[in-house]
Amino acid sequence: MVDARPAVQALPAYRPGRNPADLARELGVARAVKLASNEVSFPPLPAVVQALAAAAAETHRYPDNGAVVLTAALAERYGVDPAQVVPGCGAVMLCQQLAQAFNDPGSSIAFAWRSFEMYPLLAQVAGARAIAVPLVSGRQGGPADTHDLEALAAAVDGTTRLVFVCNPNNPTGTAVRRVELERFLDAVPAQTLVVLDEAYREFVTDPDVPDGIELMRGRPNVAVLRTFSKAWGLAGLRVGYLVAEDPAVADAVRRTHVPFSVSVLAQAAAVAALASEDEVRRRVAAVVAERDRLTAALRERGFDVADSQANFVWLPTGDRTAELAAALEARGVITRPFAGDGIRITVGAPDEDDVLLAALDAVALERSAAATPGG
Ligand SMILES: *Cc1c(COP(=O)(O)O)cnc(C)c1O
Repeated sequence: MVDARPAVQALPAYRPGRNPADLARELGVARAVKLASNEVSFPPLPAVVQALAAAAAETHRYPDNGAVVLTAALAERYGVDPAQVVPGCGAVMLCQQLAQAFNDPGSSIAFAWRSFEMYPLLAQVAGARAIAVPLVSGRQGGPADTHDLEALAAAVDGTTRLVFVCNPNNPTGTAVRRVELERFLDAVPAQTLVVLDEAYREFVTDPDVPDGIELMRGRPNVAVLRTFSKAWGLAGLRVGYLVAEDPAVADAVRRTHVPFSVSVLAQAAAVAALASEDEVRRRVAAVVAERDRLTAALRERGFDVADSQANFVWLPTGDRTAELAAALEARGVITRPFAGDGIRITVGAPDEDDVLLAALDAVALERSAAATPGG
């Protein structure tokens, strides 16, 4: 038998998420809703569908390995030089490329925890040490849900090549603000790259939460990750990008690019999406309005929900997490539980969120009936 590397054997096996159509069939209900992966519920942008149809005729050719048109469009959009921009096959692959480019075995990667699930896995595969710094409460008496940037800066040592700051944080939705983030960047040594993972940047409404691409100016050890998967609605096509202040950082990441991994279709769709930014902004505004409504409705039901700056909300359900998520799934609502910790719920369309709220009410009713003697 051929054994995989021990680090790879120790990785969690892939577990596919529930598919709503299968779940609905299994439950014998008309529809199940998926609020598990932070996609937007809108269909692809009309301009994207058109661009895909046109690009389909080119798919017998390899894609442009340098994604020149997309890189130029992103550089123009963000007011940076194309040499600072690296498109990738989703921001997750750029995370992998960063670890490949910067982490030798024995080095380390620092991040807050709980945060994006990929970060500890990156360290494991790279043979790097994972430095996980616990979240702290963002408000008096609340659950631990926000970055402790002072502790994160203090945890960085001479071996630390990468620090991820997920802002807003997945899965808690909380965001760190300009003053604390600037203080953090000032404290991190120049030979450690700070990666601001801004997968949800487009949903930020708090003016004190800085735009990483502006914040990184003049700081050569800072880079920003963004994606077309969330606000831009291209999750199924796999395209994200890194913007680095120092072109040498971008160059290092480009060297670890898996050849042709950003497809012809992904490149064409991303360019078309960028040209439809007005429509994307309208969609984001609708998501933000629905986020407010959903947050208020969850608070009315007794959940301690922090203000989210992303397109999901976090229920700190602790020990009840697995049970509640299973009860919701039994009522046709697929969420993203993190056992023992909490449930992340994507802000869906209003009718989808109403299905969620009705399911929560049904679960609460059942619990109170069970708690009543003889009930
Ligand atoms: C969704 C997400 C990404 C990236 O997604 P891709 O689909 O790979 O572009 C990156 N970081 C965080 C924190 C995310 O939640």
